[in-house]
Amino acid sequence: MTDEETLDPHDWAALRALGHRALDDAMDYMESLRDRPAWEHAPAHVKARFDGPLPAGPQQVEDIYREYVEYVLPYQLGNSHPRFWGWVLGSGTPMGVIAEMLAAATDSVSGIYSFVSNNYVELQVLDWCKEMLGYPPGAGGLLTSGCSASNLIALAVARNAGAGFDVRGDGLAGALAGTGGAPRRLTVYCSAEAHSSLTKAVELLGMGTRSLRRVPTDDLLRIDLTALAGMVARDRDDGMLPICVVGVAGTTNTGSIDDLPALADFCEREGLWFHVDGAFGAWAAIAPASRHLVAGMERADSLAFDLHKWMNLTYPVGCVLVRDAEAQLRTFSLTPSYLAHGEGERGLTGVDVPWLSDYGFELSRGFHALKAWMALKEHGADKFGRVIQQNIDQARYLAGLVEATPELELALPVALNIVCFRYVPQAGGAAATADAAPDAPAPDAPTVDDAAARDAALDQLNKDIELELQERGIAVPSVSTIGGRKYLHVAVANHRSRYEDFDLLVREVVRLGGELTRV
Ligand SMILES: *Cc1c(COP(=O)(O)O)cnc(C)c1O
Repeated sequence: MTDEETLDPHDWAALRALGHRALDDAMDYMESLRDRPAWEHAPAHVKARFDGPLPAGPQQVEDIYREYVEYVLPYQLGNSHPRFWGWVLGSGTPMGVIAEMLAAATDSVSGIYSFVSNNYVELQVLDWCKEMLGYPPGAGGLLTSGCSASNLIALAVARNAGAGFDVRGDGLAGALAGTGGAPRRLTVYCSAEAHSSLTKAVELLGMGTRSLRRVPTDDLLRIDLTALAGMVARDRDDGMLPICVVGVAGTTNTGSIDDLPALADFCEREGLWFHVDGAFGAWAAIAPASRHLVAGMERADSLAFDLHKWMNLTYPVGCVLVRDAEAQLRTFSLTPSYLAHGEGERGLTGVDVPWLSDYGFELSRGFHALKAWMALKEHGADKFGRVIQQNIDQARYLAGLVEATPELELALPVALNIVCFRYVPQAGGAAATADAAPDAPAPDAPTVDDAAARDAALDQLNKDIELELQERGIAVPSVSTIGGRKYLHVAVANHRSRYEDFDLLVREVVRLGGELTRV
């Protein structure tokens, strides 16, 4: 016996028993998701629970677990539920629970040292991602905590490769060289519909929001190629230095896919870095009947995507691939003496093997690769492809239901797996009759104000339908704005959804729409 302290349990058997119970509970939870409400808000007394003092002394692990079960477990975002389609999220898998537990058991750190197995697991996962997405085997890459980090890493490489001065040494002050005092602004182009993480990335990279040139979109919300060419030419005339164009393979709002082959051609012609943000949409590449939708993506200089969205791996895990691995290393590799790279087997051998940490900004990372490696082996790539195709087919099925329902209106044709639609009360229906709205203006004399008031009322109605669906625990769509108007947004990236869930959604939207307009 010693009186030195450790964080290991006094009673291993008791903790082991709790561990078994927790794993059983976790499996029960996942097995019974369909019987639970799709959404539960944390009530005030639950939120108040987290105002407690810092625990100075110990608490019983059983009590901690009970508190978790009562106050944390029920109030989740709900993204594992079969009828969760809000924003764009994945829904996780039971094997992910096991993989995360195992990664925790060895307190795995990934990215440093090249001799540990974790390193090879990650390299294997990266190779599999390249193969699935048609990307060259020699490309560099890294697993990340998500597509925001992936976009940041890719744009950092694009910036350093395109600046023409030593960004690592001089920072953006290097843009002053040879200009007689006026800095040359480095500019990046993406559509108005591209993700906000790109804005954060250019800000963090010191380039400033105004360096991210938002290009208008066409009527299908894809980047307008003529407008893009015009903006690049004008910016060059104005002394700026265009370095990169971002194409989106699946926008978060509507799933729209930019014309990737045309963007690849444009970037080649103009000597610009071509980055693709394919957070979820990139995975159309493995769906048997949908590969063509993202053709051209494989020509990108860098590619950012998630594994926790449409691939349904447990949060968090994303990935970035960079065609020119050396360019990625030139941006991030840094070897202080305390991190000198050797193979490690015989101490420092002087062999300089790049560590995965040389491909990104983080040194210590979690073992994200383990759950990806296990999941791809558990199901095989073909099954992931079929599940993704199933979601695309389900989105089209929902669009068909919407089109066949007089009270529902599709915002735009479905490009991928996102359906945006709204409820519009029917003329002659309860809400539109003179009885229900005695103060309504004469229908033969509409004014601009009438139209604006009608739009605002429709927006509010659809927002209310969203809230009712969520708060009654029926289903979770979100709301997105398209052409200035509000639409229910249903992103189908959920391996648990069934066709009948979409029948139910449509029935409930029509029922709630009727309820909410019958005053
Ligand atoms: C979700 C999303 C991101 C950000 O990914 P995170 O994993 O949430 O960081 C970037 N781009 C698009 C198109 C997205 O849908």
